[in-house]
Amino acid sequence: MIRVTTVPVKTYLAKSKIPGTHYVINPYVGCPHKCLYCYAEFMRKFSAHQEPWGDFLDVKLCSTPLHPSQLFHQHVMLSSVTDPYNPFEKKYEITRNILKQLVHCQAYVSVLTKSALVVRDIDLLKKLPNCNVTFSFSTADEKVRELIEPGTSSTEEKINALKELQQSCIPTAIMAAPLLPGISDWKEIVERTASHVGSFLFDSLNMRATFQRKLMDFIDVHFPHLLPLYNEIYLQGKRTYWYKMQEEIETYAKEHNLDMEVFFGKESAFSFAPAESENPIPPNVPDMGPTQPQLF
Ligand code: SF4
Repeated sequence: MIRVTTVPVKTYLAKSKIPGTHYVINPYVGCPHKCLYCYAEFMRKFSAHQEPWGDFLDVKLCSTPLHPSQLFHQHVMLSSVTDPYNPFEKKYEITRNILKQLVHCQAYVSVLTKSALVVRDIDLLKKLPNCNVTFSFSTADEKVRELIEPGTSSTEEKINALKELQQSCIPTAIMAAPLLPGISDWKEIVERTASHVGSFLFDSLNMRATFQRKLMDFIDVHFPHLLPLYNEIYLQGKRTYWYKMQEEIETYAKEHNLDMEVFFGKESAFSFAPAESENPIPPNVPDMGPTQPQLF
């Protein structure tokens, strides 16, 4: 059950520390996609929620319009600490309304999502200059996806969405991340999507304290044979596994003439540090008090 609340905000924009990105917009606080390895859980400290991450969603409402004088040809990312196309976007259309404003501003927009709902907004994405959509895949195995990213679109839905975006001439990419040792099959992700995307980025699982216990319990239950590998990588700090995988990916990329970048151990555009100005719920904004939470 997800607790959904509408909250007033003064602005949707947050200045970005992500290289090549001027601003990020996170239309929601929280994310019902509930990925086991979610790096965005730190956002709880900006909200008063006691529920576990994934069990609440704040829908941001902002009456201040985005302005071309600030955003014309500026790089804007949707989103860094939530998925702009979580299932509640179908009802609230916050992302869609933001995109309409970004079209007016003629901003350069990068969308990052795990949801096929993005195709609903192809009409707007086509009107943006330099727009691109990146789909994040940590696995192409449907059984594994259901376990580790239960709220996301299925692998097939995402692949169909990639096809639709491609047919609409919207550049697409795959962020194969985070790759989970012994579980994520990077080659399967590439082989199933390569004909619909322009480029690939790869990143390894960065074990964060916020989800370490949850993830290791999951490995213990579902993949106990991998415990020694996880201990080797994350307790002993050995990187042999990633060196070998990086070599395999780079060799494959050369052989297949694919545009690929491997970020293992490096800061990538997707190693999201929270934006300094990210304070999603400013208090005391007049005329737009929070509605009663709705339970779904
Ligand atoms: S889609 Fe992104 S923000 Fe949402 S739970 Fe998964 S990792 Fe976190």
